Order: sequence, then C-alpha cells, then structure tokens
Amino acid sequence: MNAQGAQAGQGEHSGHDAAAAAARAGTRLDPWFTSYADRAHGMRASEVRSLFAVANRPEVVSLAGGMPNIDGLPLDFLAEMTAKLLRERGPRALQYGGGQGEEELREQIVEVMRYDHIHAHPDDVVVTTGSQQALDLVTEIFINPGDVVVAEAPSYVGALGVFRAYQADVVHVPMDDDGLVPAELDRTLTELKRAGRTVKFLYTVPNFHNPAGVTLTLERRPQIVEICRRHHVLILEDNPYGLLGFDADPLPALKSFDADGVVYLGSFSKTFAPGYRVGWALAPHAVREKLVLASESAILSPTMMGQLSIATYLSTYDWYGQVKEYRSMYRERRDAMLGALAEFLPQASWTVPDGGFYTWVTLPAGLDAQAMLPRAVTNLVAYVSGTAFYADGQGRDHVRLSFCYPTPERIREGVRRLATVVHAESELVSMFGTAPHHDRVGDSVEFPSPDQV
Ligand code: PMP
Repeated sequence: MNAQGAQAGQGEHSGHDAAAAAARAGTRLDPWFTSYADRAHGMRASEVRSLFAVANRPEVVSLAGGMPNIDGLPLDFLAEMTAKLLRERGPRALQYGGGQGEEELREQIVEVMRYDHIHAHPDDVVVTTGSQQALDLVTEIFINPGDVVVAEAPSYVGALGVFRAYQADVVHVPMDDDGLVPAELDRTLTELKRAGRTVKFLYTVPNFHNPAGVTLTLERRPQIVEICRRHHVLILEDNPYGLLGFDADPLPALKSFDADGVVYLGSFSKTFAPGYRVGWALAPHAVREKLVLASESAILSPTMMGQLSIATYLSTYDWYGQVKEYRSMYRERRDAMLGALAEFLPQASWTVPDGGFYTWVTLPAGLDAQAMLPRAVTNLVAYVSGTAFYADGQGRDHVRLSFCYPTPERIREGVRRLATVVHAESELVSMFGTAPHHDRVGDSVEFPSPDQV
C-alpha cells in the first residue's frame, strides 16, 4: 500500500485489469489505494504478524496467544448434543433468526449475569457474534469521527482496533494494581470537557484485565460509576473473563450500580468455547433498540446454530462445573508463570492476576519490548509487545504474557527462554546505553492476528 499502488490503478488499465495485473504481479501494490474510505486507512495489520506466524510453530513457546484452552471440554457430550439438536430442532437451528437473538438464550443469559449481581430483563439483551461484534456495534452507534473514547492504559487491542476503525480518539487513563484510578478518570474527563472535546464513553474491563491482569476493587466500582454519571459519560463494561476468578466469586459489575449508565458486554468464548461465536450486550432500553437495528444491518441475525447449541449446553450440562474446571486449570498455569517469573526474571516486575489469562510485565529499565520481539522469537519464545495495547505509542517497556494455552511445563520453559533474551538485552543496554534497534519493527500501530488478541 503506497503511492505507487495508487498510480497502478490509473492510466490505460481499467480498475479490474489493474487489480488483476496487481494480483498477477504478486506484489503488495494496491490499485484501490485511493478509493478507500478514510477510516480504512487507519486499519493496518501489525508488521509483526509474520513473526506471529513463526511463533505458532510447535518449537516456539507462545506466551502471546489469547486462545482459551478448551482441551477439557466434553466433546463426546457435545457431539451427541449437536446431533440431537439437528435431529429435533434442525429446521430452526439452520434457519435465519431474529436480529436480537433467541429469547430462550436471552433468558439464560439473564441467569448467567446474576453471578455478576446484575438483575436484567431478557428484552434488554442483544445476542452478538462474540462480544467483539458488540464492541463494534456500540462504537458504530455512538462514535462520530474525532469523538473521544476514554480507555484504560493499557487497553484490549481488539477494542482499540474497533475504535480506530470508527476514527475515535482514544485517551488513556492510568491504572494501578487496584484497576482504573478514579481520581485520574475524573481529572481526565474534566480536562477533556475544558478542552471542548466530546467524550462518548469510557471503555473498561473491570475483571482480570486484558492485558494488565488487574481487577477493579469493590471500593472503586461505585466511584467510577459516580464519576461517569456526573460527567454524563456512558460506560462500556467488557466482561469476558468475569467468571474465571481463581479465588473468589465475581465482584458486582459496574452495571449493577447503574443500569441506565452502563452497556455491559458478556461472552461464552472464555467460559465455554469461542468457536460458537456467541456473546451479548445488555443495554439501556433505547440503546438496545439501536444495537438491534445496527446488528441487523451488519449480519441480519446472529448464528442460530451457535445460539441453540449454547442454550442446550446451558440447560443440559453442568456448565458451571465446567467453569470451575477452567478456573483450576488456569490457576495452575498462573502459578507456573508467576513462579517462573520469580525464579528467572527477578529484575522485572509483574501484576498478580486473580483470574483470567494474562500478566503484565514491566521490563528492566532501557529495554524495548517491540525491538526485542524478533530476538525472542529466534530464542523460541513469543509474547505481545506492550505497544499493541496503547493508541498513542506507549508500552515499549511492557510485555503481555498469557498463561492460558501452554502447559505449566511449557510456560516455565517459555519464561526461562524469555529471561535469557532479557538478560542478553540488559547487558547490551548496560554496555551501550541502549539495545541496538537495527531490526526494530517500525512505528506502525500493531494489530496482532485474532488468536493473539
Ligand atoms: N473483550 C476482551 C477484553 C477480550 O479479551 C476479548 C477476546 N480476546 C473479547 C472482548 C472478544 O471476545 P469474543 O468476541 O470471543 O467474545
């Protein structure tokens, strides 16, 4: 994608000829470069994507992935359940459905949300293609180009991609070990207002944050809600990991403090399986109506096969027992990771997650996570550079390590390899003041592949 690409689409070629010529030439020339909408120019694949392709090779320990480990799922049960579903309700499961999603499933979702202390009505639930689509729909109905989204520093990379696609300006607010800092949020919203900016919503992941691993304390929850209410800023509460706490039951959702001020997003991806692609939004009534219209225009209706499968699973299997198994499996992996960090990388610091998939590591001073990544992959370990989780180029001194997918032994080995790379980099830094950046991967905004987010 460059100016030459633009020129290749002009002159004697018709558009189709030029496209065909570009495809034949096998180059990255893009004859449609000048035709894209402005928002498409903000969509760029990470230059480290090719590295991640290497990172998926079996000899590499990937601490980069965000894929849940679904090895423990009862596949025989699911096979029989699916066969029965098709035999008994096939014509319905294979047909289009309503735009808002199946009532049967929405009623069950209301029950699931009781664990988060939410008392909702099925009418206010919209079933979506994963919570990722819900993020997209909320952004679509609220954001004009140049509007501000306030988000934690750091923030979920997949949400940043959506905000960028709708040309929002993301303003980050600091977190500490107790989650988003209320005083900083208040200060940021006050300053933005003074500067005449339009803030549309706060995007927050209160539980087992991706990528920071921290959880917003109970004490801070009503404070965040009060601050947003005072500034008339909607809250977009994203909670895919909430049921995966290692030691305690979920804290009350922000939504439980203010039903009208919060759009809550949930998902079956981490508590069951991401392949069904079923998530949901719980929204104030009027917002819910717009979400349904926007969703219908995007996808007509969410997957019927996925919805009815999940509805059957929830009503016929001990799904909460499965959630408990996930918790103990991930807890063991978290322990393996924190143990290995303490053993091999004591000169770094990291957050201690009480649930979810991730820990957020602060590298020793002077190291650059993005520049170090190719060297880490050469040493057969992968992570996601902290820079992926900021809209403004911060994060070079951080890496996100995920403990969800590899076994405890592989996690330990991965951290050991990472420590070798960090030590080598640190020596260079102490010798030369900085690690050499000859293979630095550019300044483009990173967007890892879907299995990394
Ligand atoms: N939000 C967060 C914080 C996530 O980590 C993810 C997945 N990595 C999603 C939303 C999207 O998940 P899904 O679309 O599978 O529900």
